[in-house]
Amino acid sequence: MARSKSRQRWYLQLHGQVGIALVMGFVIGVGARLLGPAGFPTEAFGETIGVVGDIFLRLLKMIIIPLIFTSLVCGVASLGDARSVGRVGLRTVLYYTLTTTLAILVGLTLVNVFTPGRYLDIGSSASLPEGISSSSQSLSQFLLHMVPDNIIAAMATGDVLPVIFFAILFGLFLVRLNGPNVEAVHRVIEGVLEVVQSLTLAIVKLAPIGIFALLAREVVRSGPELIMRLMPYFATVGGALLIHAFVTLPLLLLLLARRNPLDYFRAVLPALATAFSTASSSATLPLSMECAEKEAGIPRGVSSFVLPLGATVNMDGTALYEAVAALTIAQMYGVQLAFGQQAMVLLTALLASVGAAGIPMAGLVMMVVVLEAVGLPIEGIATIIAVDRVLDMMRTSTNVWSDLVGTAVIARFEGKTP
Ligand code: ASP
Repeated sequence: MARSKSRQRWYLQLHGQVGIALVMGFVIGVGARLLGPAGFPTEAFGETIGVVGDIFLRLLKMIIIPLIFTSLVCGVASLGDARSVGRVGLRTVLYYTLTTTLAILVGLTLVNVFTPGRYLDIGSSASLPEGISSSSQSLSQFLLHMVPDNIIAAMATGDVLPVIFFAILFGLFLVRLNGPNVEAVHRVIEGVLEVVQSLTLAIVKLAPIGIFALLAREVVRSGPELIMRLMPYFATVGGALLIHAFVTLPLLLLLLARRNPLDYFRAVLPALATAFSTASSSATLPLSMECAEKEAGIPRGVSSFVLPLGATVNMDGTALYEAVAALTIAQMYGVQLAFGQQAMVLLTALLASVGAAGIPMAGLVMMVVVLEAVGLPIEGIATIIAVDRVLDMMRTSTNVWSDLVGTAVIARFEGKTP
């Protein structure tokens, strides 16, 4: 099958189509903006096209909870006993912590060297998004939140972390018991997983259309005005993200997973492009799982554990962005953060990225945690908000890329490399 796929022309393959969609979305978006002064209804055009993208996004969201629950239960059950689940879990958490810390360090280095905050002035006219100051979560709240008091409510509201917690426990106890009833439950969940996966596959085929529509609307929406002043900040976050995505992570992939970074990148490109256009790690999860298993040959036992967990807690791009944004805001207010305070930024950025949900703008909301930790005014967020959407798209792709590299690394250490 793999051979027939590689013989297919590139534009018939999913990653080729996604590439075309990205270019077309960008070109059409820019074209619509250019035609605006000539009387073209640019905004209405962007919003109408966007509806197609929203349908794609809703289809992805529709599938998240059933996919996470069934794949995690089956994944944990296939790992066998609690000891091997614990081993994979420990390795996964180690990987997450390592890469997120490396990402933050790259960000901190660049923001100290380039000091983008000096180009910004205080008192921007932009206002804080609603509810941003009330949504910070302390560590204890975060831990408490992870344990659901009502699993149905958590599923119904799409609250992923408690569902992950319950699914892992469910999987562990499923393999501890024997007997026809328990086996029947196991088989039913496996059956549901098969159905959900084939539905996912069908949705994934629509990715190029969805990606095109979402990107075109985004380009139409975000104007070039404010962006100029924010360019140094934008370039610092963007540059640091690029270093992490194209240097650090490929090196880990090569050294730890012994995989060819270029081949792996190509195999998971549809997931990365979806992350870019949806700005949501959670919404991208179905594609990440599909690409990891079908295109990159990662065994399901590993991907169904590492990816859902990663989509919620492993956010290298978000952590890097938190650190750079916090220091930029400090520079903007003329505050020098000493080494100890920067270490505090590192720690809170790490925690904030774990606490951030895999949805658009979650990182911006979590900025409050970092700013409060080092005593900076949260109003600073209003200034950097203008370029946040594009940075959100970039950091989300980085988040997903790190999850996918992680699955390859863990698969190798588990001796399950294809
Ligand atoms: N949108 C990001 C994600 O889903 C989170 C963030 O806002 O940084 O991964």
